Amino acid sequence: MDKDKILSGVAASEGISVGEAFVIEGGGEFCPIKIEISKDEIKKEVNRYKEALGGTKKELESFKESLGKMLGKEHIGLADAYRQILDDPLLTRDVPRQIQSGVNAEYALYMVLDKVIKSFMKLEDPYFKDRKNDIEDIGNKIMGHLLGPQKRLLSDIKDGAIVVAQNLTLNDTMVMRERQAGGFVTEMGGKTSHVSILAQALEIPSVVGVKGALSFVKTGDTVILDGINGKIIINPDEGLVSNYIREREKFIVVRREYEKLRDLPATTLDGKKIELAANFDNIQELPFVMSSGAEGIGLFRTEYIYFNRSNLPAEDELYENYSQAARKTLPNRVIIRTLDIGGDKLNDPMLEYHRQCPTFLGLRAIRLCLKFPHIFKPQLRAILRASNEGKITIMFPMISDVHELIAAKKMLEETKDELRKEGHPFDEKIKVAAMIEVPSAAMSCDFIAKEVDFISVGTNDLIQYTIAVERTDEMVAELYDPSHIGLLRILKHIVSSVHSANIKVGICGEMAADTKYTGILIGLGFDEMSVASSAVGKIKKEIRSMSAVEMSKKVDDLLKITNIDEIKQELKKLM
Ligand code: PEP
Ligand code: MG
Repeated sequence: MDKDKILSGVAASEGISVGEAFVIEGGGEFCPIKIEISKDEIKKEVNRYKEALGGTKKELESFKESLGKMLGKEHIGLADAYRQILDDPLLTRDVPRQIQSGVNAEYALYMVLDKVIKSFMKLEDPYFKDRKNDIEDIGNKIMGHLLGPQKRLLSDIKDGAIVVAQNLTLNDTMVMRERQAGGFVTEMGGKTSHVSILAQALEIPSVVGVKGALSFVKTGDTVILDGINGKIIINPDEGLVSNYIREREKFIVVRREYEKLRDLPATTLDGKKIELAANFDNIQELPFVMSSGAEGIGLFRTEYIYFNRSNLPAEDELYENYSQAARKTLPNRVIIRTLDIGGDKLNDPMLEYHRQCPTFLGLRAIRLCLKFPHIFKPQLRAILRASNEGKITIMFPMISDVHELIAAKKMLEETKDELRKEGHPFDEKIKVAAMIEVPSAAMSCDFIAKEVDFISVGTNDLIQYTIAVERTDEMVAELYDPSHIGLLRILKHIVSSVHSANIKVGICGEMAADTKYTGILIGLGFDEMSVASSAVGKIKKEIRSMSAVEMSKKVDDLLKITNIDEIKQELKKLM
């Protein structure tokens, strides 16, 4: 038993928990993460794969038996057909070969099957369509054996348990909330991975990117999860447990202090009013937003309703969802961001793309929506219809060029025409916003600003694309630096360009929820900030304690410094 062992990671969602560990072996997302393995590990990995094949065979045998009992012997052919696929060289030869190229078994299996499935998809013949489904099905079964019984286990966790896993999905995060988990620890992920963002919204303490968590923690171990300083302590002594329980109580008291600011405005000492809104991912979070003291919703991430289902949500379902948020937020506005699927949010079974590995540079967000009007149009219709019931701004994500924005607006206008013809009322003056998350958009945001009523800067992505550091990759988490001078210069450029177009500019990335940066953001001239509802209190307190004029002077001075070490020193003071 490892006693008092401390492991460090990234503090992803604030809070402290002490509880019994619940370890989940294997990965989370079906679309597997590529892990490079060394030559010495190859044999072990091939054996692990063979065991998974063996497990699948056994599973099929018992399936065949039950099929025979239930429907009679003449129906067991289905199980035999599956069994034949398992013996195909594709699985017995090609996957081990792929592992030998130095990758983990999950990824090797995914690569091999993906290639075959794609080639079958190109063929019109229904026979091949069916075979494609069979192969997918078998692939899922083998993957299930490789990943372990994660899904079943997660729903079995006890109150207050600390879940420890290699990686978790957005859906897992929702399950943990329902099951009142004390928190979670993952080996993978960064502070701005979407699982971390959802954990903040749901107030689930978490530490991510913890190397070796699965090797050191065993189910049943006592774990202290320190989601403030980004560490976990395994099997601590009683004294340490008592200290942390006291820390947790203090943390709760501070949160209560913030609650006292609930009805006060986010105004600086010298009277600059900042619109402090909440980020919002899921309709279940609405009560948290309502009680946080936020002025409306500055970012409604609409993708979650599309996850874990086999069909696209119907327009009416979306309409209900959006109008509920819009009505509850009145008299404030809700900024509804159109679908941003892609990157680490590619958990989408109704799109063929779900089989691709997540790519942050691929078909994501507005690109995907413009390419697939059958997905985009119902959402636009639902947002427009809901605009009749509240104060909605529609926001387009991941704009990289003004023409993308123009194309999205054109589709919006066409949708308005349709609704007019059908007699559906909507807000004729609905405001339009764009997100700046891509460096090319940042440097051409004078053109973009002329096309919209509001700009919101998504620093989670802007940082990853500016510094070339993937937001979910714990290996480069240290490089993910919101105070990078290159980024601050870009932010300054965005704010000036947007203000020149006489519109307001906000920020909705995680950077806005960290008190270290509040002064810098005020100094840069942001008019609005949108943060997780759990962070509204602390950011409001910070805003109310500083002078905007003073911060603006400090930031201007900082941006004039030409010596990098001096910049770093000044930044430290500012933070
Ligand atoms: C961002 O990129 O900063 C942002 C708010 O969008 P998301 O985190 O959903 O990509
Ligand atoms: Mg983004």
